Amino acid sequence: MAVPRRGPAGSFGAVSTALIWDPALMAYHFSPEHPFNPRRLALAVSLMEAMGLLEDVPIFPPRPAGDDELLSVHTPDYIAAVRRLSQPEAARLDAARWGLGTDDNPIFPGMHEATALVVGGTLRAAELVMSGEATRAMNIAGGLHHAHAARASGFCVYNDLAVAIQWIRQTYGARVMYIDYDAHHGDGVQGIFYHDADVLTLSLHESGRFLFPGTGFTDELGEGAGYGYSLNVPLEPFTEDDSWMAIHRELLPEIAEAFRPDVIVLQNGCDGHVRDPLTHLRATTRLYEETPRLVCEIADRFCEGRLVATGGGGYDVWNVVPRAWTLVWAALSGRQAPDGIPTRWSERWRAEAPTPLPALLRDQEDAYTPVPRRAEIESANRRMVQKLRRQAFPLLRTALH
Ligand SMILES: [Zn+2]
Repeated sequence: MAVPRRGPAGSFGAVSTALIWDPALMAYHFSPEHPFNPRRLALAVSLMEAMGLLEDVPIFPPRPAGDDELLSVHTPDYIAAVRRLSQPEAARLDAARWGLGTDDNPIFPGMHEATALVVGGTLRAAELVMSGEATRAMNIAGGLHHAHAARASGFCVYNDLAVAIQWIRQTYGARVMYIDYDAHHGDGVQGIFYHDADVLTLSLHESGRFLFPGTGFTDELGEGAGYGYSLNVPLEPFTEDDSWMAIHRELLPEIAEAFRPDVIVLQNGCDGHVRDPLTHLRATTRLYEETPRLVCEIADRFCEGRLVATGGGGYDVWNVVPRAWTLVWAALSGRQAPDGIPTRWSERWRAEAPTPLPALLRDQEDAYTPVPRRAEIESANRRMVQKLRRQAFPLLRTALH
């Protein structure tokens, strides 16, 4: 099927952004103690709503992904194992073989159904964008970028991003640029498309020398026909907004110009924030406002606006995640978000919140202590970008022109 065009060349029409949401998505829940806490989804959506950012917004519920869709990425044995282990009475002797029953990925009843719904949410977002019903769409429950073809990993059972990208490839033959600025390397998505020249994956993350999953170095460039289409920027621990955004502004438009995608898929994990308990990066809310804005501009320039977005990691559930994803949503939907957080949102959650709730949507400039090694970190990151340029850009140029 050809990618539908949006009216006459050069006219993009009105931008409409759809949200995929239903509280049923919160069933993807490992255990009450697990850091991947679905409460963050309700906190984020209720903040968007309280700030008036969902007025006149088309909201679509997800649908469960079917076996044929999961099979486009995952192996039949793995899907059968996930389904079997989802039964409360199932024997669990072989669970570790599939990456399940571990501290990171404990088994929970209904695991198959809950994850298939998350996958269906991202598929729904991709369907809306590719059919032209919406210009951009976001499934904040999506972003399970660590799941591999036959193994759960890093809180991720099925890989919604990879299934949606594969659906776009198979249905429309479209070229997909995948951008991932979660604090962790997007290893699952990279691995699944490692041999594919029509899916370019770009991941910016805290270096695997310091953080799970320990991969995502500049020399991971793809294999076979896909050589040159996997790109990674491992960032120094304690990287701040300025250094991170400078890399986004330098690399994203240039790579898009070389690759010429038909659609962009953007993973918005917000665990690179300075307050996140699981990582060592030092972004503020600025990163989650400016990055999606930049990616919207790139999508408008190269692929008629088509942009499929998801959430991802984010473990400061009460303070950071609702604010970061509200800012992502405001950027994607082209709305201005005011600074003050409405008291009705804080009142709604105060009794349940174990920490004080934020009063402002954006971090203030001086909210966090400065990093003493700032210049050193910036120049180490710059050297890493130069290394990527030396290794990958000749391939991009040769392969594409
Ligand atoms: Zn992460």
